[in-house]
Amino acid sequence: MALAICMTMGSAPAKSMNNSNINTAHALPRILVLATGGTISGKKNEMSAIGYNAGGVTGQQLIEDIPELSKLAQINVEQIANIGSQDMNDDIWLRLAKRIQEVVARNEADGIVITHGTDTMEETAFFLDNVIHTDKPVILTGAMRPSTAISADGPGNLYEAIEVATNAKAKGHGVMIVMNDTIHSARWASKTHTTSVETFQSINAGPIGYVDPASVRFVQPPMLMDKRYPIPAAAPLPRVEILYAHSGMGASIINDLVKDGVKAIVLAGVGDGNSSKPVIDALNRAVKQGVIVVRSSRTGSGFVNRNVEVDDDKNSFVASYDLSPQKSRILLQILISNGKTKPSEIQTAFESGFEN
Ligand code: ASP
Repeated sequence: MALAICMTMGSAPAKSMNNSNINTAHALPRILVLATGGTISGKKNEMSAIGYNAGGVTGQQLIEDIPELSKLAQINVEQIANIGSQDMNDDIWLRLAKRIQEVVARNEADGIVITHGTDTMEETAFFLDNVIHTDKPVILTGAMRPSTAISADGPGNLYEAIEVATNAKAKGHGVMIVMNDTIHSARWASKTHTTSVETFQSINAGPIGYVDPASVRFVQPPMLMDKRYPIPAAAPLPRVEILYAHSGMGASIINDLVKDGVKAIVLAGVGDGNSSKPVIDALNRAVKQGVIVVRSSRTGSGFVNRNVEVDDDKNSFVASYDLSPQKSRILLQILISNGKTKPSEIQTAFESGFEN
């Protein structure tokens, strides 16, 4: 059950400090913070010199620890969960999506900021980007170092996420990730390093903007996300598994998944989405039994194009283009939830986000 903590800061109407804010008349912009946990809410433990538990601090405490925010926005906080994002799940995704859609429908806020663990931040961001219908900014942020660390990065990231959410130019960019002075589109962002504060990169595309405490600069225009989908009605979302390819790989795992009733398989293939002959043959048999197969790549960058080394037309496979295995999985779950199961319509959906 969602625990709701509501706190308003800067409740007295105040003059805007920044003439590019959404509401420049009298009141500060209204920002809703949805807290879910993560290292940004982490507290030191005794496990080791660097040990900590994600989700020890509430969203309300995070906001209270940054008094400068009272000059930037009127902030309400709701605690949706308090977990490490390795435990993020469909149920919380749907709660977040439904709450955000409700907030924009009732005009309860000018922008939404979600605090989240970094491990699966790109997945939640991508899910929301595909199902939220609004031009209001929706921004995820987090931290690589817990709140009790020397040189914690959480407060700066949270300040800058709220700063971006209050900026008029943030409208229409869909769901974003703001970390380490950089603004990424959910479509492209990926965690690329285990510990660095620079971990988020927009592979194949580059960041859409930059932020510091004095300025917000977008370097790309709002992207036309031509395809958005209804929020799936209920959890669990359809079962889609990711298969990590490697040398000497056999077919038994695919046969097991098919027997077990999997709806779709994403191949995190070698190179441009390839795998051994036994695996490709087993995937071909899986398609004939009604399983959707998407070929993606384990390399972390570049594109998986149709019919290069693997005959997608003959096998009725789908190529992921630039979507990572984890984002391919989410798009498939959304598509299947919305009744789209034909390889041709799934292939078209994977084309959204860039010009072919
Ligand atoms: N395991 C943490 C999480 O994703 C790591 C982090 O937030 O940086 O919640």
